[in-house]
Amino acid sequence: MSQSVTMEKIVSFSKRRGFIFQSSEIYGGIRSAYDYGPLGVEMKRNVKDEWWRSMVHTRDDVVGLDAAIIMHPRVWEASGHVGTFNDMLVESRTSGRRYRADHLIEAATDIDAEGMTASELTELIHSDERIKDPLDGGRDFTEVRPFNLMFETYTGPVKSEENIAYLRPETAQGIFTNFKNVLDTSRVKVPFGIAQIGKSFRNEITPGNFIFRTREFEQMEMEFFVEPGTDEGWHDYWLDQRWNWYTALGIDPENLRRYEHPKEKLSHYSKRTVDLEYNFPFAGWSELEGVANRTDYDLKRHTEFSGQKLEYRDQQQNRAYVPYVIEPAGGADRMTLAFLVDAYEEEEVSEDDVRTVLKLHPRIAPIKAAVFPLSKKEPVSTVARELYDDLKGDYRIAYDDGGSIGRRYRRQDEAGTPFCVTVDFDTLEDKQVTIRDRDTMTQERIPVEAVRDRLKALISG
Ligand code: ATP
Repeated sequence: MSQSVTMEKIVSFSKRRGFIFQSSEIYGGIRSAYDYGPLGVEMKRNVKDEWWRSMVHTRDDVVGLDAAIIMHPRVWEASGHVGTFNDMLVESRTSGRRYRADHLIEAATDIDAEGMTASELTELIHSDERIKDPLDGGRDFTEVRPFNLMFETYTGPVKSEENIAYLRPETAQGIFTNFKNVLDTSRVKVPFGIAQIGKSFRNEITPGNFIFRTREFEQMEMEFFVEPGTDEGWHDYWLDQRWNWYTALGIDPENLRRYEHPKEKLSHYSKRTVDLEYNFPFAGWSELEGVANRTDYDLKRHTEFSGQKLEYRDQQQNRAYVPYVIEPAGGADRMTLAFLVDAYEEEEVSEDDVRTVLKLHPRIAPIKAAVFPLSKKEPVSTVARELYDDLKGDYRIAYDDGGSIGRRYRRQDEAGTPFCVTVDFDTLEDKQVTIRDRDTMTQERIPVEAVRDRLKALISG
């Protein structure tokens, strides 16, 4: 990551190169909603595909699931979201703005306000002179009160109390409610996991930091069911796995750390939670994903609320028990942002020339390779087209015949394309092409017919 990378730089770069756009921009935009453009959508898909590959496809103890966003409202009573999925909210009477009480306190003091009750927060905000409205410096605040983060909607044509439904605030509950279905249909044996990727919705009071915190976002969660007593070992195992996933895909380990939640601040369902945090240049160390020991809380609550027994029968031990759950839960958007800033570099080539390059791991890069004909004319262009046609389909490949080769390299460097293949006049004679590496800028010459295998090796390596 380049030291000088700022939020403004990343936002304008993302827009200029078609990674991420403000949602509804032609109408002036809507706060905290973003759209992924042609390069962004490829990159985010790669992040999700890599997660899925590592969590599901390369393992024989994890299966996938894709549950509905709108679930039975009782699900959210059982999970505790109806009662406790709250942020503490305070309103400034001078500006009329609402703030998350803990954010307001933590911005002005070194007090850790997470987990405090509404009355403790009110007391603190009213008494501590350092806490001011960031907008106008005012010190006239209302009482702090809890605000539920779930988006409410209605199912069917009648907007009445009994038709209230919620947009899911996490994907995990779709996994717990399908625990029995999966057990009955897929021959899984504890320990095993169920993974899911999908949209979640939270009516965040203070969204911000670009795609770091939005109201609509995509989660990647896996619930790993284990025998009670083995849960602590599995927790450590998944923490290591997840750490290794990031670093194998190129995240600088210097920018990654673990944060152990203090016991007294754990969520109601958790025995232990450790976050993997990334050192965002504009937000400091912030959660990328949480790895939680959710115990048997969720399965037991759903058993209680639904009347359906959710347990595992161990044939070998001839006994039934409710498994414990280890949950690595991350956000696809937040991870995409981390990959983006970690890869962003501005290299000074000469005094008045800066090369912007995204040093993305080839697996995360939106475009894997670009094919350049040195000339737009035949037969060079024909050979280049043939090569392009041969390569596309396996991956996203670009074809670019506009401008000088140097400019074409720069365009691909900015897009994070790891390899550029140039077809030149010599190719017509020696049947060889040049592959240029984005990071080292070194070039090698190889036979046209070897390009496909060579790229495959370079990308998966
Ligand atoms: P935070 O403390 O940042 O609000 P959280 O602890 O509530 O996050 P979890 O409920 O553990 O988050 O959700 C798992 C993951 O989902 C987070 O690590 C994050 O990557 C992602 N996530 C959660 N909320 C948002 C959001 N509003 N926007 C984008 N991603 C989110």
